[in-house]
Amino acid sequence: MQHKLTLMRRKSTSVTEFRELVGEVAMLMAYEVTKDLPLTKAKIQTPMETMMSPVLQGEKMVLVPILRAGMGLLDGMLRIFPSARVAHIGIYRDHKTLEPVEYYFKASKTLRGRDLILLDPMLATGNSAVAATDRLKGAHPRSIRFLCLVSAPEGVRAFRKAHPDVPVYTAAIDRKLNAHGYILPGLGDAGDRIFGTL
Ligand code: URA
Repeated sequence: MQHKLTLMRRKSTSVTEFRELVGEVAMLMAYEVTKDLPLTKAKIQTPMETMMSPVLQGEKMVLVPILRAGMGLLDGMLRIFPSARVAHIGIYRDHKTLEPVEYYFKASKTLRGRDLILLDPMLATGNSAVAATDRLKGAHPRSIRFLCLVSAPEGVRAFRKAHPDVPVYTAAIDRKLNAHGYILPGLGDAGDRIFGTL
């Protein structure tokens, strides 16, 4: 995963390669972020005999990409959890204030009692992730986990202060934010690199 992240960070990495890599890293992170989800046992029939075998317990999990960069992590997660539900949350950062503005929210009415995984490749100021988590908590899920790839220490601190009960899964904690809220050394604008809007 660290090797793949290094390839993603390189300025010379093309949009095609970046997109593939972000999908692969999402698949690798999928294991880490879900490894403590509760299991139950279901009675199944193997070709040899019946057995009680582990299956995920509860309602289908819900993946929540923060638009638009979070979409880059969605396909990789869905490869591992093909029946997960998806809720979209659109939040942009006001470039002057760096404050989050929600412009879209579409989720199933039944988030109550479900396990939610919030997806955003970059945890920069933390403002968007905090706002998205505020919104999701209002729907009374069973759990929320936050999956990102590259974090700034400032963002980790802000998120943990606002939502100490929501675990953060990140592949790297970088040095710092710059004055424009970008992560250093980071990988640039993740949305631009995924969607080729450089
Ligand atoms: N969002 C990005 O895409 N990159 C950063 O460095 C910070 C926020």
